[in-house]
Amino acid sequence: MQLYARVITDDPTAKELDYSIPESFTGKVHVGSRVKVPVRSREILATVVALVDTPSVPAPKCVAALISESPILNKSLLALARWMAEYYCCSVEAAIRSVLPQVIRKAELGFKRERIVSVNNAIAEEEFKKFATKAPRQAEVLRFAIEVAEPLRWRELQLRAATTDRTIQHLVDRGLLRVELETADRDPYANERFVQSTAFELNSGQKQALEIVVESIKAKDSRPILLHGITGSGKTEVYLQAIDLCLRQGFSALVLVPEISLTPQTVEHFKMRFQSELIAVLHSHLSAGERHDEWHKLNSGRARVAIGARSAVFAPVQRLGLIVVDEEHETSYKQEEAPRYHARDLAVVRAQLDQCAILLGSATPSLESYQNAKNGKYRLVHLASRVDDRQLPLIRVVDMRQEYLKQKHLPLISTTLANAIETRLAKKEQTILFLNRRGFATSLVCNQCGYVCECPNCSVALTFHLGENRLKCHLCGHIALAPRKCPKCSDPSIRFAGYGTEKVEGATQKIFPSATVARMDADSMTRKDAYRQILQAFRIGKIDILVGTQMIAKGLDFPNVTLVGIINADIGLHMPDFRAGERTFQLLTQVAGRAGRGDMAGEVYVQSSTPFSPSIQFARHHNFEGFWEQEIEFRERCEYPPFVHLLMVHIRSEHQRRAQFTAETIHRRINDQLEAGVTLHPVVPAPIERSKGYYRYQILLRTKSIRRLSKNIRSTIEKLTFPDDVHVSVDVDPYQLL
Ligand code: ADP
Ligand code: ZN
Repeated sequence: MQLYARVITDDPTAKELDYSIPESFTGKVHVGSRVKVPVRSREILATVVALVDTPSVPAPKCVAALISESPILNKSLLALARWMAEYYCCSVEAAIRSVLPQVIRKAELGFKRERIVSVNNAIAEEEFKKFATKAPRQAEVLRFAIEVAEPLRWRELQLRAATTDRTIQHLVDRGLLRVELETADRDPYANERFVQSTAFELNSGQKQALEIVVESIKAKDSRPILLHGITGSGKTEVYLQAIDLCLRQGFSALVLVPEISLTPQTVEHFKMRFQSELIAVLHSHLSAGERHDEWHKLNSGRARVAIGARSAVFAPVQRLGLIVVDEEHETSYKQEEAPRYHARDLAVVRAQLDQCAILLGSATPSLESYQNAKNGKYRLVHLASRVDDRQLPLIRVVDMRQEYLKQKHLPLISTTLANAIETRLAKKEQTILFLNRRGFATSLVCNQCGYVCECPNCSVALTFHLGENRLKCHLCGHIALAPRKCPKCSDPSIRFAGYGTEKVEGATQKIFPSATVARMDADSMTRKDAYRQILQAFRIGKIDILVGTQMIAKGLDFPNVTLVGIINADIGLHMPDFRAGERTFQLLTQVAGRAGRGDMAGEVYVQSSTPFSPSIQFARHHNFEGFWEQEIEFRERCEYPPFVHLLMVHIRSEHQRRAQFTAETIHRRINDQLEAGVTLHPVVPAPIERSKGYYRYQILLRTKSIRRLSKNIRSTIEKLTFPDDVHVSVDVDPYQLL
């Protein structure tokens, strides 16, 4: 008999503590149970992580309360949390906080209970008549309930019988109606009906891919399969059929998609193919109640397909048979707050712990994953052609330097692109214009003295938004009025420099006054339903030209779009980030992939002032392999991932000197204990030196054995104490280098 529970408490200083299990809870406390335990004078929530025979301290205190008997953290998720803590340099408690949504952890919210009303006893006709003369309103309602002949929700009865709460209550009091409480799901899709879709007949490439996945599901083989399928090659159909087979085998499935592509369109694909109740959708816009219910649907095994963004990697799916990670190269899988985990990488680990198959899909795999496929760690499957042998769009690069020479200024939309749009308008075909920068102007610059309006909290320029007539900081959200004259030299010739989507929208409308132009970016999408409405309007052809940021780059499938214009391919290419080339290649390929998905061929115009940069040229020729070979050589030569792992220590404070001093102290300590094979770079200010009022410093390390380094860094930092106003965090395999 194990009498002691080892728990991890829900507070940040938590260590593992042992408590004895009182007799009343005997047999009810399991690994994964949630409990309340006394710590000093308080009682706090905790998760049971083990049951032990001998406690680590003599005479431990008792578990005070049992929150949930059934384990809410199953063994593999607990193991995943432990793995995560070790790899990503965080506490197990912080990892558990990521794994269990707050609404589940705190257990303050229960299921929604609804009052269900039914007819209690049969009533004889004579008696009914008597009753009808005495209480005609009640009799009417009773008659209605008898006719419906099935239990109704209280509210529904009230509405359909056009009556009041009081009347129903009277009937209940008389014993003529009966009320019962039933658990009701808060289903975010309750008001939608989904037309069932049937599976496509797969083409030979898809068939082959499917076979390999099914083999893995059956063999419970957790070796990842990398599906490299060009845009429009029908990867989603492979996912759907693999999941179908997985369900038939009695297993469940987990699908991860980037937050940005968790559109109604994606969810529909799944809800239409499988029974709607089998599917749980997890994303950041759910209410706490909906999240609670979707989580329990999965945990109880009622829902067997989970779809969600990053954090859904922790979905409590039972009997997991397959994990799908769509667009595995997407950087939004990386969480940018502690614990800074990467959902794709955690998915690979989870597949091992759960012993299930895992499929990573992308048209532009990350260099890390492709390298793993090349060296045999992953299985590589290609889908090299589009379904129905549709052509990939023809990509033309417009040299904006020539355009500048011709027009004596740099136009937003080149003559070549404008002509192409004109042709589409005449043929009633649709155009997408893409620019990876929102707002109207990038900045406000004084022609006289060169003053640039900067954010007072961050070392970046403010962006001008015409619609609101305000300057905004895209980092911290700071808002300011645009000055009429230069704040520094008072010259009135302060001008807008650069441009964003808002300006492109305006310029397009000006060139094509009779066309319907709409814009889709984070600014125009503040209303909850706006996204859906614009996409719907675009789908039915009410919009001719859609201007947008990366929101429109991914996953959208509109057969009537035959032209995509990329306004400036150079943004992002010259960032101080070793992944800049990779990101540009991926973005161009993805955006270009939106063209020509129907029966008509597509065309893409890429405007650039560096038209011969490799990312643009390889994207132009749809040459992933070529891009990969060149990029991987650069990574190897310069010792970047996937050849080494990076680890970044971030130090920030509102006081510059304290941040810098702390950074240097940490650097010295790390240097004192440096192991062979680890490269330690000096303390540098972050490329964006100041953000949200904090001064930022960073220390970069490179190594081939990251788990070892991670462990060492953690113990080094744990031994140090920092001033209260200095924050130190560790980012393992960082993506954000700015
Ligand atoms: P990807 O995700 O690889 O870019 P999609 O999954 O969006 O491609 O597929 C492109 C289009 O082709 C979709 O409209 C899809 O319904 C359709 N499709 C997929 N597989 C087939 C098939 N075997 N036969 C016909 N159409 C298909
Ligand atoms: Zn700012």
